[in-house]
Amino acid sequence: MSKLLCPVCDKDVSTSPFKAWKFRGYDVKRYECQNCKSKFNVYQNPKKTFTIPSHK
Ligand SMILES: [Zn+2]
Repeated sequence: MSKLLCPVCDKDVSTSPFKAWKFRGYDVKRYECQNCKSKFNVYQNPKKTFTIPSHK
């Protein structure tokens, strides 16, 4: 996987996801940013990757 940036503070997130599940064909992983402590989800399928919340 390419470098993961926190959608809230834009810093690198190097921690492992603390939760993972499937949703409508996406692999979803939930992370907590070690910098700003925000929690966000990464949605990933073979064609597309996005975060919720999204980057500003
Ligand atoms: Zn952050």
